[in-house]
Amino acid sequence: MINSKTEKAFAITKERMKKMIAIVDKVRCSGCGDCMMVCPVDAITMALGKAEVDPDECIGCGACVDECRRGAISMRD
Ligand code: SF4
Ligand code: SF4
Repeated sequence: MINSKTEKAFAITKERMKKMIAIVDKVRCSGCGDCMMVCPVDAITMALGKAEVDPDECIGCGACVDECRRGAISMRD
């Protein structure tokens, strides 16, 4: 059962995660699309052969950072 403390902790965690978003270095990005495949909320699209993150959709999970073999994605506040 979820109590109010758990709910509060969840809300705080969600808020903290929300502050971090993925940023793509367009010079390093090869446009392979691997990051797009792992994003759980479909926040990444391809534009002119480069990955693009929708900051309103990104939940800051970091999955795309781990997936990118070119080190083209980093997390920012
Ligand atoms: S995984 Fe990296 S190189 Fe591939 S499209 Fe995404 S950002 Fe670009
Ligand atoms: S950090 Fe997570 S939610 Fe944000 S673009 Fe990367 S995979 Fe998607």
